[in-house]
Amino acid sequence: MEIIVEDPVCDRKFALENVMVAEEYKGWTYFFCSAECQHKFNQSPATFANGPVPTKAK
Ligand SMILES: [Zn+2]
Repeated sequence: MEIIVEDPVCDRKFALENVMVAEEYKGWTYFFCSAECQHKFNQSPATFANGPVPTKAK
């Protein structure tokens, strides 16, 4: 079954198998469509990681 995840930076949704970059923050895993979004997340993770994560950490 396909797992859909959401990029917290650009709000894009995509299949987990298409995830380019993943980042752990406070025990959760966040997925990004590109290194660019990951970079933005790393600049201010609190800005993006403030809501419920759309997918489970595992
Ligand atoms: Zn993105």
